[in-house]
Amino acid sequence: MAPSLTTVRGLERYHRILTGESRARRDILRRIPVDIDSEADLTELWREHDVAMAHYRELLTDDDALTVLTPRTNNLLGLKLEICHRLMHSCKLCENRCAVDRISGELGKCRCGREARIASRFIHMHEEMELVPSLTVFFSGCNARCCFCQNWDISQDSFSGIVLTGEEIGRGLDEYHELGVKNVNWVGGEPTPHIHTVISSLLNSKSSLPVVWNSNMYLSREAMALLSGVVDIYLTDFKFGNDDCAVRYSGMEDYWETVTRNHISASQDAEILIRHLVLPDNLECCSIPILKWVAENLGPGTRVNVMGQYRPAGDTGRCEELQRRLQDSEISYILDSARNLGLDNIV
Ligand code: SF4
Repeated sequence: MAPSLTTVRGLERYHRILTGESRARRDILRRIPVDIDSEADLTELWREHDVAMAHYRELLTDDDALTVLTPRTNNLLGLKLEICHRLMHSCKLCENRCAVDRISGELGKCRCGREARIASRFIHMHEEMELVPSLTVFFSGCNARCCFCQNWDISQDSFSGIVLTGEEIGRGLDEYHELGVKNVNWVGGEPTPHIHTVISSLLNSKSSLPVVWNSNMYLSREAMALLSGVVDIYLTDFKFGNDDCAVRYSGMEDYWETVTRNHISASQDAEILIRHLVLPDNLECCSIPILKWVAENLGPGTRVNVMGQYRPAGDTGRCEELQRRLQDSEISYILDSARNLGLDNIV
């Protein structure tokens, strides 16, 4: 399978990774030596992490310096895995901040345990054209309860699918890379409760596939810090333009502050492609504020996929306004509004 390589505005580094001119970010992390002291407390590990991340940022723009560095046994990617495991003892990987001990078997709002379950993984051919063919890994379980979820069966049943270790998934990455996929796309459900498995998979893979983080972006600051240097493209699902809709439809508190904060952080750390699924009767309260915020805060050239394919799914029975598909006039209105706001990189 020979992937087509077209440079897309906003995804230039991703293109250079595909052509071999730059390295996937986590390949840089593997070349940065760290001291992983299993006796150190979490504060000390974060301190070590922050020092090493300063080194990573210097190397990110210096491909020449990287050519003389080799992968290290104790490296920054391994340190991120150690910190992630520590965080799971009182889980705060997302802004639900459940503080349950997932390592000992407790379950939080996502009901995801210590081990990750994979609902499916296959070569996706129907994503944005710059991403396909994409090895898409669907985790079971989600930290949100979106009543309109288009993947309801896997997002709301964290025990569906099969348990796979990081080692098993890592070996699979190498095999799929040989088949010609362009990236590995971590999705669900939601990948956030499974950051440890993602990092472990990358540690157990020789592949340099770019990493796509396909997420609702309801991550904690700690989780975003762990993903810095791991993710090459944030493929975000920007759902709501205000907190009331986020609580009503998905049960997510403090949505707007969390998700806008994480979009800014993501755009500073990596490349970003934003998806927005337009919901019936939510044009003025959600779609327009999101597009306006993106234009003003991330810039008019931000790549945005305005999606009009909404269909009633999941558990929309309690929300009468979500019981219908979009009308053509509604999606045209949103696309026109995006252009009027200056957004000029719409998928
Ligand atoms: S990932 Fe989020 S929802 Fe799941 S246990 Fe951790 S804080 Fe709670």
